[in-house]
Amino acid sequence: MWYSNIRKVSKKKAAKYRARKKMYEKLETFGYCSGCGRSDVILTNSHLLSQYHYSKYMDKAWNIKQHCVTCNTNWQNPLKRPAFLDYAESMEIIKEHDEAASLELIGKEELNTIKFNISHG
Ligand SMILES: [Zn+2]
Repeated sequence: MWYSNIRKVSKKKAAKYRARKKMYEKLETFGYCSGCGRSDVILTNSHLLSQYHYSKYMDKAWNIKQHCVTCNTNWQNPLKRPAFLDYAESMEIIKEHDEAASLELIGKEELNTIKFNISHG
């Protein structure tokens, strides 16, 4: 039938989403953002290695931090990431599971710091 080819997500992806949901349900919660320490904010499940670039880690509990919405966004920003309270710990976790990915993140931070310093004299 004409609609048989319409599927929003593939079966493989749907299984990944289900696994992610299961993992979310098991996560320990702390009641504050691990990036900025605030507890008066809405907390999100934030991926250290982005779901877009590292979909293979989207359902891994080690790849999740509880971040407020702002920190969830800022973690993807190489200029803002090093200011996180748990930056060193998070980078250590990434390195432990995917050294190449951790080097890539560090490389982007260094590159952006150089660019920032150039543009800000
Ligand atoms: Zn935060």
